[in-house]
Amino acid sequence: EGRETHLRVVLRVRPLTCTETRRGDRQVVHSLGDGAVHVSAARHDATFGFSAVFDAGASQEAVFEGSGMRQLVELAIDGFSCTVFAFGQTGSGKTYTLMGPLAQNETQPASPALLGLMQRSFTCLLEQSRSRGSDLALSASYLEIYNEQVRDLLSPGPPCALPLRWSKTRGFYVENQLSVEFESLETIVSLLLQGSQRRRTSAHALNRHSSRSHALLTIRIGSRAVSAHPAPGEGCACPSRQGTLCFVDLAGSERVKETGSSGELSVEANSINRSLLALGHCISLLAKPRGKKTHIPYRDSKLTRLLARSLGGSGITLMVACISPSSRCLSETLSTLHYASRARRVTIRP
Ligand code: ADP
Ligand code: MG
Repeated sequence: EGRETHLRVVLRVRPLTCTETRRGDRQVVHSLGDGAVHVSAARHDATFGFSAVFDAGASQEAVFEGSGMRQLVELAIDGFSCTVFAFGQTGSGKTYTLMGPLAQNETQPASPALLGLMQRSFTCLLEQSRSRGSDLALSASYLEIYNEQVRDLLSPGPPCALPLRWSKTRGFYVENQLSVEFESLETIVSLLLQGSQRRRTSAHALNRHSSRSHALLTIRIGSRAVSAHPAPGEGCACPSRQGTLCFVDLAGSERVKETGSSGELSVEANSINRSLLALGHCISLLAKPRGKKTHIPYRDSKLTRLLARSLGGSGITLMVACISPSSRCLSETLSTLHYASRARRVTIRP
């Protein structure tokens, strides 16, 4: 607490897909062990270092245990604001890493081994809350940012835009968002599924398989330490704590020109790119050595406003960069790796 530390950035390289293998894509990303990864292609030969690197063979459990996700859950229970976000190009494995194939195919439930960071964190959270014997009050909210509009994924009815406000005490917050209390794993998993389906429907209407919105699931953890031997007169006046655990599934970066998007799709792609650019800009300013206080332009996009607290220093953030190993994705892969390397220099003071 109060000690300065760096943002934790881990990298996940997904396996080549069947399509990629069939058309003969080369594998240009190789894990070297010890958090190092090497990209080898004709004119690009570079090595990058991260807190951990998970290659194609890494299981979902290995990613949960090796990324520091378990510790993040514990810190959230202790009252910290914790955020994990997955980023990378479309199809790089962000949603798979966070949710597993579960949310992508509701007809056949995924095997427990394939569950993602989110379900594993929920399990861990509920186990911890039971074993600590303190009564935790858990609630969840789930929203998406689509075309620079914040929408509630849990409230019934068609998604409507919610105002994003700022107050001195709360910082940036979303007005009127639904927050649902839960006590069991089944409830929170079903909230996740419901919300993800609503998110996907809007994407499907546009005939896209990939999510075209940024999604943020936030769990609030209120706890009151139950002291075993209260001093006389102390009663229930134990300090209460309020931690948060936020999961962010960023929409993929995408080049408007390359995909030939036009009309509605290009508006979409532009707003995705705009918020990712704003996020990148904030990160590069935050990564500059401290000293003179620089202004961080959180107000440039809804995404950066909502992430202001997690990036801005008092929160604890874990970034999971996702990349494809294919030669065809080389330029996007390099840009994700540079983005991720820059993020490693951001300092935080939880
Ligand atoms: P994104 O959310 O970044 O657009 P997805 O998570 O939807 O990408 O992944 C794209 C495809 O690759 C999906 O079919 C997914 O099941 C598959 N995939 C991603 N990561 C892995 C992995 N580590 N192992 C196996 N399949 C994966
Ligand atoms: Mg996705």
